[in-house]
Amino acid sequence: METSTEGAARPDSSPVTAEAAGDDPVVVPGARAVPPASLSPSRASDFMQCPLLYRFRVIDRLPEKPSEAATRGTLVHAVLERLFDAPAAERTAPRAKALVPGQWDRLRESRPEVVELFADDPEGERLARWLAQAEALVERWFGLEDPSRLEPAERELFVEAELESGLRLRGIIDRVDVAPTGEVRIVDYKTGKAPRPEYAEGALFQMKFYALVVWRLKRVIPRRLQLVYLGSGDVLTYDPVLADLERVERKLLALWEAIRLATETGDWRPRPTKLCGWCDHQAHCPEFGGTPPPYPLPVRAVPTPGEGG
Ligand code: SF4
Repeated sequence: METSTEGAARPDSSPVTAEAAGDDPVVVPGARAVPPASLSPSRASDFMQCPLLYRFRVIDRLPEKPSEAATRGTLVHAVLERLFDAPAAERTAPRAKALVPGQWDRLRESRPEVVELFADDPEGERLARWLAQAEALVERWFGLEDPSRLEPAERELFVEAELESGLRLRGIIDRVDVAPTGEVRIVDYKTGKAPRPEYAEGALFQMKFYALVVWRLKRVIPRRLQLVYLGSGDVLTYDPVLADLERVERKLLALWEAIRLATETGDWRPRPTKLCGWCDHQAHCPEFGGTPPPYPLPVRAVPTPGEGG
């Protein structure tokens, strides 16, 4: 079948990478497959987008090629995080942009596979353009927030909470601000563009997920959820209430039940959409004439309607 990425925004969910440890499973070639034990916003979004994509990423742990967009996102996040090491008055745009080359060096050391991105660029022209794009994204942030007036309580905070059902939720929050009055703001940076209003709910899912985790951990409902879109220069905010968190919890429990059933039965359906254009696994996907690898976990028969148990 034919799909096109025209009009489809590249998903801003992180691929499964070693760098995303904590939020996501780490790809270890040849490692024994184990059933999923926890849920992160990225992998929850994967399952909602396409159950087979979730299987490929979480159960089969198929490797994925680094992409320029995702790697630039990782680089920009690192720069914004490190800028807060400087005293408040020195958190300027020139200083932030000057951090880009050093953070790129660090990224190449920690994830050597990203070097492949520019293997066919001996003159370094494409790399120079790509670094300039990263600098432009960093610079745009200064029109949206003023880091000299912020003192984050946390940066790149790994959070994990267990629901009463036993489901473990985990993720990494880009920034947590706490006001002197104790009000909590959760902030996430996106290097892409803000979604159209009709898609804002999907974008907020990740933030409500984090709000639920914070609520479960600290019994505090974050006052504000804030998405900072560096690609388009937009800020999307939402002030959650208890009913939002209860709703997202119910949604996650239903999602987890569906994941548990698919894990046990091995029945992972492909769900083709325009986003298939961004999927690294078309060669294994029946929708594109491919065959999934042998299922690495034990399966039980799918119950048919009317069957007990
Ligand atoms: S190509 Fe599309 S349908 Fe197939 S696994 Fe990837 S996202 Fe799912």
